[in-house]
Amino acid sequence: MSLPSVRRVLLAFTCLPLVFARSVKRADTGNARVLILGGGVAGVIAARTLHKQGITNFTIVEARGELGGRLQTETFGAPGNEWNIERGANWVQGTQTDDGPENPIWYLVQKHGLKTQYNDWYGSVSTYDDTGPVDYLDVFNDSSDEYTTLTVVAGARVPKKQVDLTARAGYWLIDAKPRTPAEMACEYYQFDWEYAQTPEESSWIASSWGNNYTYDTDVGGFSETNQMSIDQRGFKYFIQAEAAEFLLPSQVMYDATVQNITYSSDGVEVALLDGTTLSADYVLCTFSLGVLQNDDVVFNPPLPDWKQEAIQSMVMATYTKIFLQFPQNFWFDTQMAIYADRTRGAYPVWQSLDITDFFPGSGIVFVTVTGDFSVHVEALSDGEVQSEVLGVMRAMFPNVTVPDPLAFYFPRWHSDPLFRGSYSNWPASFFSGHHENLRATVEERLWFAGEATSQKYFGFLHGAYFEGLDVATTLAECINGGGCAGLRHVPEITNAYPYVV
Ligand SMILES: Cc1cc2nc3c(=O)[nH]c(=O)nc-3n(C[C@H](O)[C@H](O)[C@H](O)COP(=O)(O)OP(=O)(O)OC[C@H]3O[C@@H](n4cnc5c(N)ncnc54)[C@H](O)[C@@H]3O)c2cc1C
Repeated sequence: MSLPSVRRVLLAFTCLPLVFARSVKRADTGNARVLILGGGVAGVIAARTLHKQGITNFTIVEARGELGGRLQTETFGAPGNEWNIERGANWVQGTQTDDGPENPIWYLVQKHGLKTQYNDWYGSVSTYDDTGPVDYLDVFNDSSDEYTTLTVVAGARVPKKQVDLTARAGYWLIDAKPRTPAEMACEYYQFDWEYAQTPEESSWIASSWGNNYTYDTDVGGFSETNQMSIDQRGFKYFIQAEAAEFLLPSQVMYDATVQNITYSSDGVEVALLDGTTLSADYVLCTFSLGVLQNDDVVFNPPLPDWKQEAIQSMVMATYTKIFLQFPQNFWFDTQMAIYADRTRGAYPVWQSLDITDFFPGSGIVFVTVTGDFSVHVEALSDGEVQSEVLGVMRAMFPNVTVPDPLAFYFPRWHSDPLFRGSYSNWPASFFSGHHENLRATVEERLWFAGEATSQKYFGFLHGAYFEGLDVATTLAECINGGGCAGLRHVPEITNAYPYVV
């Protein structure tokens, strides 16, 4: 079964009063100096964009020792059977259909010869509950249809300018009311596994368009295909290879952690953890939404109210892959499996890597948790999480004596001060104007880009790519044009039908 192609949602571009930054003094534009803060996909593509526009006086300032950001590889496994697995992003989500629009990540992956494998999320699935294997694929298929209906009905609200609601309200309104563990686990697979939060926590409209603009070719999506990186150089290889084509060693600072950003309409100073201060005419900040929310970087003066409201109103969700390696494969022979616990979200999505076309002979399986359950596992010790996971495996495979794993690993994205989560999610209380403000320029000099600033593709690698491209293109026009309008903001997000007091 493949994802139906009828999911269609139109983007609502609301007409709001917009404020443009004042234009920059011409004297600043000659050899303007730009600092690109962060060397993830958005930062690298922004640098490439400036380079292509003839602006070379820029530096990427990156806290880690390599480029790639949330593309991170971990060597995992017992000695003699080690594999490079992905801590972060793993899939190109949506590739290309015929001559239609191509996911730019898919383009770069092919350009740099990265090895990927089609991952069948819907046609290669086994189902379990806490009594062992139980066939509820009929429930799974129904929940897939319900998700499609959810997105179609969300789309119908947009031209009528109906307000957003939570995706939970949407599910209830289409009469999809999961009650059993199996129904809840299947709903989780369709929804939480993508958005890393529950339907209660997510916008009905934005989650639908996030899906459709990526997967639905009827509304300009790329394709329904998910290609998983199995390249032992790591998924990050494609962006590092792209950077190597244009980036000079002098244009990147590694192991450089930003602590303070002091800005005014005259320029920006960036203070690093090691005491160094960097000056620039412009700063393009690509730090994650989580970093901006958590004051890991301090802005002087504090960001304006409209920017802070935007930052604090979107959500940095967490998506956690928990890897286990065993002496041999004793689990399912499909690519994917669903486990229906009585607690929704407890170790629900499983994927075998010890399978033809992936890592045969690896003995590796991984389980994914998201949202509050990710926060739960991050608060536990590795040993405690391992015990919980093994408890679930013993329930899933009652006829197997499940051994202790040879290797066990999971990353803690939520606690990591360089990320504070995995990717952004759009809640129902977040309006288009908030989103405009998330990416808007502050005081002409401070620019923002990253997956979270993408209205169509927030959360995705291709969202980070397009934002690096689009925002840096505007910045380059600003610099090369001898003046700058900056990216607009909305002074206050107001209620069209306010509360009556
Ligand atoms: C577990 C997980 C699974 C995912 N799965 C997928 C997937 O399969 N497909 C998909 O399309 N997307 C996926 N994503 C999302 C995708 O990885 C992101 O959307 C994308 O990588 C974001 O890129 P970015 O450039 O916006 O931000 P980042 O990659 O976060 O880049 C920002 C950079 O800023 C640096 N930084 C932060 N703070 C500081 C500081 N104080 N000083 C200096 N540098 C700093 C960071 O080190 C980082 O390199 C996943 C993410 C995670 C974590």
